[in-house]
Amino acid sequence: MPRMHPRIVQVAVPRPLHSVYDYQVPAPLPMPAVGARVRVPFNRGSTVGVCTAHLHSSAHKSLKDVAEVLDGQPLLPPDLVQLAHWMTDYYHHPLGEVLATLLPAAARKGAPGNLDEPDWWTTSVPAFDNKRATAQRALFDYLQANQPCAAEQLTAAGHKRAALRALAKAGAVERCEPDLRGGGEVPPEPSAAQATAIQAVITKLDAFNVQLLEGVTGSGKTEVYLRVMEPVLDQGGQVLVLVPEIALTPQTLQRFQQRYGGVGMLHSNLSDHERLQTWLKAAAGKLRVIVGTRSAIFTPFRKLGLIVVDEEHDSSYKQQDGLRYSARDLAAKRAQQLNLPVVLGSATPSLESLYNVNRGRYAKLSLPHRAAGARMPTYHLIDMRGQAHTDGVAVALEHVIRRHLDARGQVLLFLNRRGFAPALLCAACGWQALCSDCDAKLTLHRKPAALVCHHCGLRFPIPDQCEHCGSSSLLPVGMGTQRTEAAVQRLFKDLPVYRIDRDSTRSNRALEQRFAQINTGEPAIMVGTQMLAKGHHFPNVTLVAILNADAGFCSPDFRAPERTAQLITQVAGRAGRAERPGEVWIQTYQPDNPLLQCLMQAGYPGFAELELQQRIAVGLPPAKPMALIRAESANGTEAVNLLQQFKQQLRGLELLGPVAAPIARVANRQRYQLMLVADSRPHLHQHLARLQPPRLPRSLRWSIDVDPYDSL
Ligand code: ADP
Ligand code: ZN
Ligand code: ZN
Repeated sequence: MPRMHPRIVQVAVPRPLHSVYDYQVPAPLPMPAVGARVRVPFNRGSTVGVCTAHLHSSAHKSLKDVAEVLDGQPLLPPDLVQLAHWMTDYYHHPLGEVLATLLPAAARKGAPGNLDEPDWWTTSVPAFDNKRATAQRALFDYLQANQPCAAEQLTAAGHKRAALRALAKAGAVERCEPDLRGGGEVPPEPSAAQATAIQAVITKLDAFNVQLLEGVTGSGKTEVYLRVMEPVLDQGGQVLVLVPEIALTPQTLQRFQQRYGGVGMLHSNLSDHERLQTWLKAAAGKLRVIVGTRSAIFTPFRKLGLIVVDEEHDSSYKQQDGLRYSARDLAAKRAQQLNLPVVLGSATPSLESLYNVNRGRYAKLSLPHRAAGARMPTYHLIDMRGQAHTDGVAVALEHVIRRHLDARGQVLLFLNRRGFAPALLCAACGWQALCSDCDAKLTLHRKPAALVCHHCGLRFPIPDQCEHCGSSSLLPVGMGTQRTEAAVQRLFKDLPVYRIDRDSTRSNRALEQRFAQINTGEPAIMVGTQMLAKGHHFPNVTLVAILNADAGFCSPDFRAPERTAQLITQVAGRAGRAERPGEVWIQTYQPDNPLLQCLMQAGYPGFAELELQQRIAVGLPPAKPMALIRAESANGTEAVNLLQQFKQQLRGLELLGPVAAPIARVANRQRYQLMLVADSRPHLHQHLARLQPPRLPRSLRWSIDVDPYDSL
């Protein structure tokens, strides 16, 4: 018989497998609300968990006591607790870990959930005339002309925090409520297509619905987002705007901030404290708009009225480790739970979203033309077979580059490989430099010179001799951005060449500085990876060249064609975004590749339609739901055995595997996977819910990836 006890709570703790436990709340402590954090004893230590239910009784005889209740008000509002439960079922991930993923890191570690005093200031006396305190006087005068004013704005204008403190101490200035009014920017007049899209969204603001805004690159999707936000904000509602990781730059933020006040930003470069504060401000309604990357989907709001997902096809919306959620899919789920609208925008929508349009679940809106009269670029192929080239830049392309530079245009060269060369090969015996810990070739880097493993991050000195035969003729094979940069600099001696990849621009600030240099508009060449492809606006780029289009179309991953077509279209979309028309040149060794031909002739929409029909025909996502179970262990045997056991338990589904991952060994662990395809979602989830993992050796790790983005 369970014994009756009125002060029992269920607490989810961040542990794998069994993550929900019953605890007793001792008399002096208040009962924690559902969604509040509690500190509880766990194993031999203690941990921060979240109260998930009040219980009338427990099946357990002796319950441990809650040690501390951390939140008077629940930090997680009911809608997020509800979302966490849904995620637990959908992603087959323990509730405690789901809740821990939702919380900002500071909150997870037990930091108090109190809002700092607002860092906004006004003057509190009519004048400040201390002749000697010039810094203070200057700040006072600035504030008087610009009040109320955020402390960040004061420091951005060159004033010192110390002067502000001194003025506050003297009683000349005081804190005030933040000003959430807009910046008063005059918006452009929407085009006819924009107006139609705006109208379509605005008429459906009061209930759940998803609209896919398919707008070609440079068509003014952001203007549509800004316009549909207005009525939501006017009614006191809040808006969540999700953007891809690379696109969240001060430039992006500014576009929202200039139109509306009260914009907060959530991205991975914030300190834990800043992140928690922005989170709390959104929950308290002290911010009106949150612009953020993937995990911003978990922001609590006082009155959320609309969710926008920009570049909805972007891979950064899918978390690739731990709890492998899709922020885009969660946006739709959260909107459904809260009964509010979602706008998904992209020039190259995912097949998932297009499938939902075809089935009538999403409505589609189109912006078929570029804004403000800019034309779409023209496409040209360069057949690389038998072409002379300089380190991968064809002579024919060199001429085109020169023509554009002579016409004072800027040039963007795209190559999806960082480093100097993707392999180092012995010309005498064919030996290749491999990683000691992975089954992978090492990439040759220059400045700093090293062989780098792009899978585990290990670095090795560059050998003088072949390890196998001792020959000293070691050849860098293939192209990386560093090699292209060097080649282009040799070909165009007097022109600035900017390389933009993860090695050259590690911080957002460095990236901003680069973009500022580029947007002075002088003729220049940019060489870069997909960091250049996403959402950026370079008005003076008239030529985009894709140096190696083939790799993506040759990958066995079933999503590779879709991804490659998206990438080519997005990169191409950087060309000719302003007055001057753009050209796109694509180097290929397979000019007749049917996928490439289809993209050239039918454009992304035609390509996507055909690719979707293929997926439906062979029964792959989005037509059928998929999951991937990955397992890894030191020698691989345990991983394979586990997946074999799962395979038995999952009979009734279409199963592929266990097979070794394409790069089987990474960081000295052998990786295997089992792919599952089901006829329907319920079918998939019934089976996954039945999985019974046996007792596992410590060294074995495994995970379930529902709707995997990478299937290899
Ligand atoms: P997308 O996100 O669709 O690629 P953007 O929103 O970046 O396109 O818009 C491209 C450019 O067109 C921006 O400089 C934007 O200010 C401008 N623009 C958008 N809408 C209009 C409009 N209705 N009239 C004039 N310019 C516009
Ligand atoms: Zn050799
Ligand atoms: Zn490695």
